[in-house]
Amino acid sequence: MGRVLIIGAGGVGTVVAHKVAQNADTFTDIMLASRTKSKCDAIVKAIGNPAIKTAQVDADNVDELVALFNDFKPELVINVALPYQDLTIMEACLKAGVNYLDTANYEPKDEAHFEYSWQWAYHERFKEAGLTAILGCGFDPGVSGIYTAYATKHYFDEIHYLDIVDCNAGDHHKAFATNFNPEINIREITQKGRYFENGEWVETGSLELHQPITYPNVGPKESYLLYHEELESLVKHFPTIKRARFWMTFGQEYLTHLRVIQNIGMARIDEIEYNGQKIVPIQFLKAVLPNPQDLGENYTGETSIGCRIRGIKEGKERTYYVYNNCSHEAAYKETGMQGVSYTTGVPAMIGALMFFKGLWKNPGVNNVEEFNPDPFMEQLNKQGLPWHEVFDKDLEL
Ligand code: NDP
Repeated sequence: MGRVLIIGAGGVGTVVAHKVAQNADTFTDIMLASRTKSKCDAIVKAIGNPAIKTAQVDADNVDELVALFNDFKPELVINVALPYQDLTIMEACLKAGVNYLDTANYEPKDEAHFEYSWQWAYHERFKEAGLTAILGCGFDPGVSGIYTAYATKHYFDEIHYLDIVDCNAGDHHKAFATNFNPEINIREITQKGRYFENGEWVETGSLELHQPITYPNVGPKESYLLYHEELESLVKHFPTIKRARFWMTFGQEYLTHLRVIQNIGMARIDEIEYNGQKIVPIQFLKAVLPNPQDLGENYTGETSIGCRIRGIKEGKERTYYVYNNCSHEAAYKETGMQGVSYTTGVPAMIGALMFFKGLWKNPGVNNVEEFNPDPFMEQLNKQGLPWHEVFDKDLEL
Protein backbone atom coordinates (compact mmCIF):
# COMPACT_ATOMS: atom_id res chain seq x y z
CA MET A 1 0.00 0.00 0.00
CA GLY A 2 1.42 3.36 -0.97
CA ARG A 3 -1.01 6.20 -0.32
CA VAL A 4 0.44 9.45 -1.60
CA LEU A 5 -0.96 12.97 -1.71
CA ILE A 6 0.55 15.46 -4.16
CA ILE A 7 -0.10 19.14 -3.34
CA GLY A 8 0.31 21.61 -6.21
CA ALA A 9 -0.96 21.27 -9.78
CA GLY A 10 1.60 23.42 -11.58
CA GLY A 11 4.33 22.34 -13.98
CA VAL A 12 6.16 20.26 -11.39
CA GLY A 13 2.96 18.80 -9.92
CA THR A 14 1.92 17.67 -13.41
CA VAL A 15 5.19 15.75 -13.86
CA VAL A 16 5.01 14.24 -10.36
CA ALA A 17 1.44 13.05 -11.03
CA HIS A 18 2.47 11.43 -14.34
CA LYS A 19 5.51 9.70 -12.84
CA VAL A 20 3.67 8.51 -9.72
CA ALA A 21 0.94 7.06 -11.96
CA GLN A 22 3.63 5.26 -14.02
CA ASN A 23 4.86 3.53 -10.85
CA ALA A 24 1.54 2.04 -9.82
CA ASP A 25 3.12 -0.99 -8.15
CA THR A 26 4.46 1.37 -5.44
CA PHE A 27 1.88 4.14 -5.47
CA THR A 28 -1.38 2.28 -5.06
CA ASP A 29 -3.58 5.24 -4.03
CA ILE A 30 -2.98 8.70 -5.40
CA MET A 31 -4.58 12.07 -4.73
CA LEU A 32 -3.69 15.38 -6.39
CA ALA A 33 -4.84 18.47 -4.47
CA SER A 34 -4.30 22.15 -5.18
CA ARG A 35 -5.81 25.60 -4.86
CA THR A 36 -7.68 25.16 -8.16
CA LYS A 37 -9.33 21.75 -8.41
CA SER A 38 -10.07 22.08 -12.14
CA LYS A 39 -6.30 22.06 -12.79
CA CYS A 40 -5.99 18.77 -10.89
CA ASP A 41 -8.89 17.29 -12.88
CA ALA A 42 -7.29 18.35 -16.18
CA ILE A 43 -4.01 16.66 -15.20
CA VAL A 44 -5.78 13.45 -14.21
CA LYS A 45 -7.66 13.52 -17.52
CA ALA A 46 -4.37 13.89 -19.43
CA ILE A 47 -2.89 10.95 -17.50
CA GLY A 48 -5.99 8.91 -18.27
CA ASN A 49 -6.26 7.22 -14.88
CA PRO A 50 -9.62 8.07 -13.29
CA ALA A 51 -8.59 6.25 -10.08
CA ILE A 52 -6.44 9.28 -9.16
CA LYS A 53 -8.50 11.38 -6.77
CA THR A 54 -8.48 15.18 -6.80
CA ALA A 55 -9.33 17.81 -4.20
CA GLN A 56 -9.33 21.54 -3.57
CA VAL A 57 -7.18 22.74 -0.71
CA ASP A 58 -5.75 26.02 0.50
CA ALA A 59 -2.29 24.93 1.63
CA ASP A 60 -1.83 28.17 3.60
CA ASN A 61 -4.53 26.90 5.96
CA VAL A 62 -3.37 24.23 8.43
CA ASP A 63 -6.90 23.20 9.48
CA GLU A 64 -7.99 22.64 5.86
CA LEU A 65 -4.88 20.55 5.26
CA VAL A 66 -5.42 18.47 8.39
CA ALA A 67 -9.06 17.80 7.38
CA LEU A 68 -7.88 16.66 3.93
CA PHE A 69 -5.12 14.45 5.40
CA ASN A 70 -7.54 12.87 7.87
CA ASP A 71 -9.96 12.18 5.05
CA PHE A 72 -7.53 10.68 2.47
CA LYS A 73 -5.05 9.31 5.04
CA PRO A 74 -1.88 9.53 2.94
CA GLU A 75 1.34 8.05 4.25
CA LEU A 76 3.36 10.73 2.46
CA VAL A 77 2.67 14.22 1.14
CA ILE A 78 4.68 15.46 -1.84
CA ASN A 79 4.65 19.25 -1.56
CA VAL A 80 5.07 20.81 -5.00
CA ALA A 81 3.00 23.91 -4.27
CA LEU A 82 5.11 27.00 -3.53
CA PRO A 83 7.87 27.49 -0.92
CA TYR A 84 5.47 29.76 1.00
CA GLN A 85 3.40 26.68 1.95
CA ASP A 86 6.22 24.52 3.36
CA LEU A 87 5.64 25.32 7.01
CA THR A 88 1.84 25.04 6.99
CA ILE A 89 2.09 21.67 5.22
CA MET A 90 4.76 20.45 7.68
CA GLU A 91 2.60 21.62 10.59
CA ALA A 92 -0.40 19.75 9.20
CA CYS A 93 1.75 16.63 8.66
CA LEU A 94 2.64 16.66 12.36
CA LYS A 95 -0.99 17.11 13.37
CA ALA A 96 -2.24 14.27 11.15
CA GLY A 97 0.75 11.91 11.38
CA VAL A 98 1.88 12.14 7.74
CA ASN A 99 5.41 12.02 6.28
CA TYR A 100 6.62 14.92 4.13
CA LEU A 101 8.71 15.64 1.01
CA ASP A 102 9.34 18.90 -0.86
CA THR A 103 11.54 20.43 -3.59
CA ALA A 104 12.23 23.96 -2.32
CA ASN A 105 12.96 25.44 1.09
CA TYR A 106 10.66 27.79 2.95
CA GLU A 107 10.52 31.41 1.96
CA PRO A 108 8.32 34.03 3.66
CA LYS A 109 6.03 35.81 1.21
CA ASP A 110 6.98 39.29 2.37
CA GLU A 111 10.76 38.81 2.32
CA ALA A 112 12.79 37.51 -0.66
CA HIS A 113 14.97 35.37 1.52
CA PHE A 114 15.27 31.60 1.90
CA GLU A 115 17.20 29.43 4.32
CA TYR A 116 16.78 26.04 5.95
CA SER A 117 16.59 27.23 9.57
CA TRP A 118 12.78 27.46 9.53
CA GLN A 119 12.39 23.85 8.38
CA TRP A 120 15.35 22.40 10.29
CA ALA A 121 13.63 23.74 13.44
CA TYR A 122 10.99 21.01 12.93
CA HIS A 123 13.57 18.21 13.35
CA GLU A 124 12.80 17.25 16.95
CA ARG A 125 9.05 17.31 16.44
CA PHE A 126 9.22 15.04 13.37
CA LYS A 127 11.64 12.76 15.21
CA GLU A 128 9.42 12.47 18.25
CA ALA A 129 6.41 11.77 16.05
CA GLY A 130 8.36 9.05 14.19
CA LEU A 131 7.78 10.90 10.90
CA THR A 132 10.26 11.42 8.06
CA ALA A 133 10.60 14.76 6.30
CA ILE A 134 12.70 14.82 3.11
CA LEU A 135 13.72 18.34 2.10
CA GLY A 136 14.79 19.62 -1.30
CA CYS A 137 14.13 16.59 -3.52
CA GLY A 138 13.98 18.19 -6.98
CA PHE A 139 16.98 18.51 -9.28
CA ASP A 140 18.76 21.42 -7.68
CA PRO A 141 18.25 21.17 -4.78
CA GLY A 142 17.84 17.42 -4.95
CA VAL A 143 19.87 15.49 -7.48
CA SER A 144 22.72 18.00 -6.97
CA GLY A 145 22.95 16.82 -3.32
CA ILE A 146 22.57 13.15 -4.26
CA TYR A 147 25.35 13.48 -6.88
CA THR A 148 27.56 15.03 -4.17
CA ALA A 149 26.77 12.23 -1.70
CA TYR A 150 27.43 9.62 -4.39
CA ALA A 151 30.77 11.18 -5.31
CA THR A 152 31.81 11.32 -1.67
CA LYS A 153 30.77 7.73 -1.03
CA HIS A 154 32.42 6.16 -4.06
CA TYR A 155 35.22 8.31 -5.41
CA PHE A 156 36.74 10.59 -2.79
CA ASP A 157 38.21 10.47 0.69
CA GLU A 158 37.52 14.20 0.96
CA ILE A 159 35.76 16.57 -1.39
CA HIS A 160 37.20 20.08 -1.40
CA TYR A 161 35.71 22.08 -4.27
CA LEU A 162 32.11 21.77 -5.41
CA ASP A 163 30.59 23.63 -8.34
CA ILE A 164 26.98 22.93 -9.26
CA VAL A 165 26.50 23.90 -12.90
CA ASP A 166 22.99 24.40 -14.26
CA CYS A 167 22.48 25.09 -17.95
CA ASN A 168 19.23 25.50 -19.80
CA ALA A 169 20.16 25.46 -23.47
CA GLY A 170 16.53 25.27 -24.51
CA ASP A 171 14.47 27.71 -26.56
CA HIS A 172 10.77 28.24 -25.77
CA HIS A 173 10.43 30.82 -28.59
CA LYS A 174 8.96 33.47 -26.28
CA ALA A 175 10.50 36.92 -25.77
CA PHE A 176 10.55 36.37 -22.01
CA ALA A 177 9.29 33.55 -19.84
CA THR A 178 10.47 31.76 -16.71
CA ASN A 179 10.71 27.98 -16.54
CA PHE A 180 9.10 27.66 -13.16
CA ASN A 181 6.86 29.86 -11.09
CA PRO A 182 7.86 33.41 -12.23
CA GLU A 183 7.45 34.95 -8.79
CA ILE A 184 9.75 32.42 -7.10
CA ASN A 185 12.18 32.46 -10.03
CA ILE A 186 12.58 36.25 -10.22
CA ARG A 187 12.91 36.56 -6.43
CA GLU A 188 15.71 33.98 -6.51
CA ILE A 189 17.68 35.48 -9.37
CA THR A 190 17.51 39.11 -8.30
CA GLN A 191 19.00 38.33 -4.87
CA LYS A 192 22.62 39.02 -4.07
CA GLY A 193 25.04 36.25 -5.09
CA ARG A 194 26.71 34.19 -2.38
CA TYR A 195 29.18 31.33 -2.20
CA PHE A 196 31.07 29.45 0.49
CA GLU A 197 34.84 29.68 0.82
CA ASN A 198 37.15 28.65 3.66
CA GLY A 199 34.41 28.49 6.26
CA GLU A 200 32.77 31.79 5.30
CA TRP A 201 30.01 33.03 3.05
CA VAL A 202 31.20 35.52 0.46
CA GLU A 203 28.59 37.92 -0.91
CA THR A 204 28.63 39.31 -4.47
CA GLY A 205 26.38 41.67 -6.38
CA SER A 206 23.40 40.11 -8.14
CA LEU A 207 24.75 38.13 -11.15
CA GLU A 208 28.06 39.99 -10.75
CA LEU A 209 30.38 37.00 -11.23
CA HIS A 210 30.15 35.15 -14.51
CA GLN A 211 32.25 33.10 -16.89
CA PRO A 212 31.75 30.76 -19.82
CA ILE A 213 31.40 27.08 -18.87
CA THR A 214 31.33 24.29 -21.43
CA TYR A 215 28.36 21.94 -21.13
CA PRO A 216 28.26 18.49 -22.74
CA ASN A 217 26.40 18.39 -26.06
CA VAL A 218 25.73 22.14 -25.68
CA GLY A 219 29.07 23.95 -25.78
CA PRO A 220 30.21 27.06 -23.91
CA LYS A 221 27.52 29.19 -22.22
CA GLU A 222 27.93 32.26 -20.06
CA SER A 223 27.19 31.09 -16.51
CA TYR A 224 26.35 33.33 -13.54
CA LEU A 225 27.13 32.73 -9.89
CA LEU A 226 23.93 32.59 -7.81
CA TYR A 227 23.18 31.72 -4.22
CA HIS A 228 21.24 28.48 -4.19
CA GLU A 229 19.70 26.77 -1.20
CA GLU A 230 21.52 23.43 -1.35
CA LEU A 231 24.85 25.20 -0.74
CA GLU A 232 23.72 25.73 2.86
CA SER A 233 22.97 22.07 3.58
CA LEU A 234 25.86 20.64 1.54
CA VAL A 235 28.58 22.59 3.36
CA LYS A 236 26.98 21.49 6.64
CA HIS A 237 26.82 17.80 5.72
CA PHE A 238 30.19 17.65 3.90
CA PRO A 239 32.46 19.66 6.22
CA THR A 240 35.60 18.94 4.13
CA ILE A 241 34.28 21.33 1.45
CA LYS A 242 36.55 24.36 1.12
CA ARG A 243 34.54 26.10 -1.57
CA ALA A 244 30.99 25.58 -2.86
CA ARG A 245 29.42 27.58 -5.65
CA PHE A 246 26.36 27.45 -7.89
CA TRP A 247 26.32 28.58 -11.54
CA MET A 248 23.37 29.04 -13.87
CA THR A 249 23.24 30.06 -17.55
CA PHE A 250 21.17 33.01 -18.74
CA GLY A 251 20.80 34.42 -22.25
CA GLN A 252 21.31 38.13 -22.93
CA GLU A 253 17.62 38.56 -23.87
CA TYR A 254 16.56 37.12 -20.53
CA LEU A 255 18.95 39.35 -18.59
CA THR A 256 17.84 42.47 -20.45
CA HIS A 257 14.19 41.75 -19.68
CA LEU A 258 15.07 41.03 -16.06
CA ARG A 259 16.92 44.33 -15.73
CA VAL A 260 13.99 46.26 -17.17
CA ILE A 261 11.52 44.42 -14.91
CA GLN A 262 13.60 45.42 -11.88
CA ASN A 263 14.22 48.98 -13.02
CA ILE A 264 10.53 49.71 -13.59
CA GLY A 265 9.55 48.24 -10.22
CA MET A 266 7.72 45.17 -11.48
CA ALA A 267 9.89 42.85 -9.36
CA ARG A 268 8.68 44.53 -6.15
CA ILE A 269 7.20 42.17 -3.55
CA ASP A 270 5.56 44.82 -1.36
CA GLU A 271 1.95 45.90 -1.74
CA ILE A 272 1.09 49.01 -3.73
CA GLU A 273 -2.19 50.86 -4.09
CA TYR A 274 -3.73 50.56 -7.56
CA ASN A 275 -7.22 51.85 -8.38
CA GLY A 276 -8.30 51.57 -4.76
CA GLN A 277 -6.98 48.03 -4.53
CA LYS A 278 -3.78 46.61 -3.08
CA ILE A 279 -1.63 44.63 -5.51
CA VAL A 280 1.88 43.17 -5.38
CA PRO A 281 3.70 44.09 -8.62
CA ILE A 282 5.52 40.75 -9.01
CA GLN A 283 2.22 38.88 -8.58
CA PHE A 284 0.63 41.06 -11.23
CA LEU A 285 3.63 40.38 -13.48
CA LYS A 286 3.14 36.63 -12.98
CA ALA A 287 -0.44 37.00 -14.19
CA VAL A 288 0.65 38.52 -17.51
CA LEU A 289 3.74 36.38 -18.20
CA PRO A 290 3.49 33.05 -20.03
CA ASN A 291 2.54 30.22 -17.68
CA PRO A 292 5.57 27.88 -17.33
CA GLN A 293 3.11 24.99 -17.69
CA ASP A 294 2.29 26.12 -21.23
CA LEU A 295 5.86 26.41 -22.50
CA GLY A 296 6.39 22.76 -23.37
CA GLU A 297 4.83 22.50 -26.80
CA ASN A 298 7.45 24.27 -28.89
CA TYR A 299 10.36 23.98 -26.50
CA THR A 300 13.50 22.75 -28.24
CA GLY A 301 16.98 21.98 -26.90
CA GLU A 302 17.99 20.53 -23.57
CA THR A 303 19.05 21.19 -20.00
CA SER A 304 22.40 20.06 -18.63
CA ILE A 305 22.82 20.05 -14.85
CA GLY A 306 25.64 18.51 -12.88
CA CYS A 307 28.26 18.70 -10.15
CA ARG A 308 31.95 19.38 -10.79
CA ILE A 309 33.98 18.19 -7.84
CA ARG A 310 37.66 18.31 -6.91
CA GLY A 311 39.08 16.50 -3.91
CA ILE A 312 41.46 13.79 -2.84
CA LYS A 313 41.49 10.01 -3.01
CA GLU A 314 44.34 8.06 -1.41
CA GLY A 315 46.39 11.22 -1.10
CA LYS A 316 46.05 12.18 -4.78
CA GLU A 317 43.99 15.01 -6.21
CA ARG A 318 41.23 13.98 -8.58
CA THR A 319 38.27 15.53 -10.36
CA TYR A 320 34.81 14.20 -11.06
CA TYR A 321 31.92 15.56 -13.10
CA VAL A 322 28.49 13.93 -12.98
CA TYR A 323 25.58 15.30 -14.99
CA ASN A 324 22.29 14.74 -16.73
CA ASN A 325 21.14 16.22 -20.01
CA CYS A 326 17.37 16.36 -20.43
CA SER A 327 15.59 17.06 -23.72
CA HIS A 328 12.65 19.46 -23.48
CA GLU A 329 10.95 17.69 -26.38
CA ALA A 330 11.24 14.25 -24.80
CA ALA A 331 9.94 15.63 -21.48
CA TYR A 332 6.97 17.18 -23.28
CA LYS A 333 6.19 14.00 -25.17
CA GLU A 334 6.06 12.02 -21.95
CA THR A 335 4.31 14.44 -19.58
CA GLY A 336 3.16 17.52 -21.53
CA MET A 337 5.66 19.67 -19.57
CA GLN A 338 9.06 21.17 -20.43
CA GLY A 339 12.41 19.92 -19.16
CA VAL A 340 12.70 22.17 -16.09
CA SER A 341 9.43 20.85 -14.62
CA TYR A 342 10.48 17.33 -15.66
CA THR A 343 13.91 17.47 -14.03
CA THR A 344 12.22 18.62 -10.79
CA GLY A 345 9.20 16.30 -10.79
CA VAL A 346 11.01 13.05 -11.58
CA PRO A 347 13.36 13.29 -8.54
CA ALA A 348 10.41 14.22 -6.30
CA MET A 349 8.68 11.01 -7.38
CA ILE A 350 11.90 8.99 -6.88
CA GLY A 351 12.29 10.41 -3.36
CA ALA A 352 8.74 9.23 -2.63
CA LEU A 353 9.61 5.83 -4.14
CA MET A 354 12.64 5.62 -1.82
CA PHE A 355 10.36 6.37 1.11
CA PHE A 356 7.72 3.77 0.25
CA LYS A 357 10.37 1.11 -0.42
CA GLY A 358 11.65 1.77 3.11
CA LEU A 359 15.08 2.86 1.79
CA TRP A 360 14.78 6.49 2.84
CA LYS A 361 13.08 6.51 6.22
CA ASN A 362 14.57 8.40 9.10
CA PRO A 363 12.35 10.15 11.66
CA GLY A 364 13.24 13.82 11.72
CA VAL A 365 13.94 16.45 9.07
CA ASN A 366 16.50 15.32 6.48
CA ASN A 367 18.15 16.82 3.44
CA VAL A 368 18.50 14.38 0.55
CA GLU A 369 22.29 14.04 0.87
CA GLU A 370 21.85 12.46 4.31
CA PHE A 371 20.35 9.31 2.75
CA ASN A 372 22.00 6.48 0.80
CA PRO A 373 22.40 7.87 -2.74
CA ASP A 374 22.85 4.49 -4.49
CA PRO A 375 19.23 3.32 -4.91
CA PHE A 376 18.22 6.86 -5.94
CA MET A 377 20.97 7.00 -8.59
CA GLU A 378 19.78 3.64 -9.92
CA GLN A 379 16.24 4.96 -10.26
CA LEU A 380 17.39 8.14 -12.04
CA ASN A 381 18.61 5.89 -14.87
CA LYS A 382 15.31 4.01 -14.97
CA GLN A 383 12.92 6.94 -14.61
CA GLY A 384 14.09 9.26 -17.39
CA LEU A 385 17.08 11.18 -16.00
CA PRO A 386 20.18 9.09 -16.86
CA TRP A 387 23.50 10.40 -15.62
CA HIS A 388 27.03 10.39 -17.00
CA GLU A 389 30.43 10.58 -15.34
CA VAL A 390 33.70 12.20 -16.40
CA PHE A 391 36.84 11.44 -14.39
CA ASP A 392 40.02 13.46 -13.98
CA LYS A 393 39.37 16.04 -16.70
CA ASP A 394 39.78 19.81 -16.47
CA LEU A 395 36.70 21.16 -14.65
CA GLU A 396 37.23 24.75 -15.97
CA LEU A 397 36.38 26.07 -12.51
P1 NDP B 1 3.65 26.59 -10.38
O1 NDP B 1 3.40 27.99 -10.02
O2 NDP B 1 3.50 26.13 -11.80
O3 NDP B 1 2.68 25.63 -9.50
C1 NDP B 1 2.43 25.83 -8.15
C2 NDP B 1 1.12 25.13 -7.81
O4 NDP B 1 0.86 25.30 -6.42
C3 NDP B 1 -0.07 25.72 -8.56
O5 NDP B 1 -0.89 24.68 -9.01
C4 NDP B 1 -0.76 26.56 -7.49
O6 NDP B 1 -2.15 26.65 -7.60
C5 NDP B 1 -0.46 25.74 -6.25
N1 NDP B 1 -0.58 26.59 -5.07
C6 NDP B 1 -0.03 27.80 -4.84
N2 NDP B 1 -0.42 28.28 -3.66
C7 NDP B 1 -1.25 27.34 -3.13
C8 NDP B 1 -2.00 27.25 -1.92
N3 NDP B 1 -1.98 28.23 -1.01
N4 NDP B 1 -2.74 26.15 -1.73
C9 NDP B 1 -2.79 25.16 -2.62
N5 NDP B 1 -2.11 25.18 -3.79
C10 NDP B 1 -1.35 26.27 -4.02
O7 NDP B 1 5.09 26.20 -9.82
P2 NDP B 1 6.06 25.05 -10.33
O8 NDP B 1 5.27 23.81 -10.57
O9 NDP B 1 6.92 25.58 -11.39
O10 NDP B 1 6.98 24.84 -9.03
C11 NDP B 1 6.50 24.08 -7.92
C12 NDP B 1 7.57 24.03 -6.84
O11 NDP B 1 8.75 23.42 -7.34
C13 NDP B 1 8.01 25.42 -6.31
O12 NDP B 1 8.13 25.33 -4.92
C14 NDP B 1 9.37 25.63 -6.94
O13 NDP B 1 10.18 26.44 -6.16
C15 NDP B 1 9.87 24.19 -6.96
N6 NDP B 1 10.97 23.97 -7.94
C16 NDP B 1 12.07 23.26 -7.51
C17 NDP B 1 13.10 23.02 -8.39
C18 NDP B 1 14.23 22.13 -7.98
O14 NDP B 1 15.01 21.70 -8.83
N7 NDP B 1 14.41 21.79 -6.72
C19 NDP B 1 13.11 23.56 -9.75
C20 NDP B 1 11.86 24.21 -10.13
C21 NDP B 1 10.86 24.42 -9.22
P3 NDP B 1 -2.87 27.51 -8.79
O15 NDP B 1 -2.76 26.61 -9.96
O16 NDP B 1 -4.25 27.71 -8.34
O17 NDP B 1 -2.07 28.77 -8.92
